[in-house]
Amino acid sequence: MTSYICATCGVQHRETDAAPEHCPICEDERQYIGHNCQQWTTISELQKTRHNRIETIEPNLAGIGTVPGFAIGQRALLVQTPNGNILWDCLSLLDDATLEAIKALGGISAIAASHPHTVGSLVEYSHAFGNAPIYWHADNRQWVMRPDPAFVFWEGETCEPMDGITLIRCGGHFEGSTVLHWAQDAEGRGALLTGDTMQVAQDRRYVSFMYSYPNMIPLNKHAIERIVNAVEPYEFERIYGGWWDFHVTDAKSALKRSAERYIQAIAD
Ligand SMILES: [Zn+2]
Ligand SMILES: [Zn+2]
Repeated sequence: MTSYICATCGVQHRETDAAPEHCPICEDERQYIGHNCQQWTTISELQKTRHNRIETIEPNLAGIGTVPGFAIGQRALLVQTPNGNILWDCLSLLDDATLEAIKALGGISAIAASHPHTVGSLVEYSHAFGNAPIYWHADNRQWVMRPDPAFVFWEGETCEPMDGITLIRCGGHFEGSTVLHWAQDAEGRGALLTGDTMQVAQDRRYVSFMYSYPNMIPLNKHAIERIVNAVEPYEFERIYGGWWDFHVTDAKSALKRSAERYIQAIAD
């Protein structure tokens, strides 16, 4: 039995004898089936050609990304807190060097997912760190491709997996699309880790929001306002998107002007 990984979205599926026929995540209109048809790989295959880069982004925040890039190409974030470390989103590749590097940073006490596109082999990461709980919004439950007892399906609008860390459901891209608010960063000014619930734009002065990024399907005004209102009660000075170097400073006002611009663009 093998847990195959979809080569387009990078998500690891439940154990099967042979590669699955379908990846429901890629068959959904928010993703796409690879142009060379559905392809699969495994962690051991990925280990032959790739490794993970782990780098400190700011004090108590490390990025982890796969080199060369694989599938969606996201970089995960490891938030180090006095109460334990939380891994925000995940990667398809796990290897011994990654394990050792994360252990040196204090290991993983919990894992949280922004949404189903950027989770890779998160069950492998959970198992490697004592079956660390995986916080996953219940409204995204149908998109769990590898069920496991480690999943904690949280409901409603917020969840606090540990002191100083709040998961905030924003919806939009997925009904359960979430951001992570980190209150106790070294500067004490707060940061939002957003995956693509808020997608950092290329100019790194704005963020944007889409129902589907690869298929370019926008969201409506109501959805944008819901996202902005969900994070309004929180203080944050930086937004970290889901890819290397995609971050925004002066983030609270950047979010406000981004939402205004977006709503203006889709208005009558
Ligand atoms: Zn897929
Ligand atoms: Zn996505």
